Amino acid sequence: MFPSPYNGRNDVFWIVGLSTDIRHATKVLPGARPPGEWVPTLCQRWIRLPFPSLAGRVPTTAAIHEQCSRCGDIAEQQECSGVIWDF
Ligand SMILES: [Zn+2]
Repeated sequence: MFPSPYNGRNDVFWIVGLSTDIRHATKVLPGARPPGEWVPTLCQRWIRLPFPSLAGRVPTTAAIHEQCSRCGDIAEQQECSGVIWDF
């Protein structure tokens, strides 16, 4: 079995989009796109990247642990390693 060329990097980032209260997984590297931009999730939704927390504050999304089960299934199928990410 050869790795798919699509999966050179197999990390997914579990992020909480703007105005949502659940984590979805995305392959978009946090910081690679500006805040407020729409990015696709593994479960084929679109979420907006949140704005960074003020320096020294714990991100409000840090308290959110619920993860989208569809994203979880897909990440598992693709053997992605998940990284919890707060902004
Ligand atoms: Zn999802």
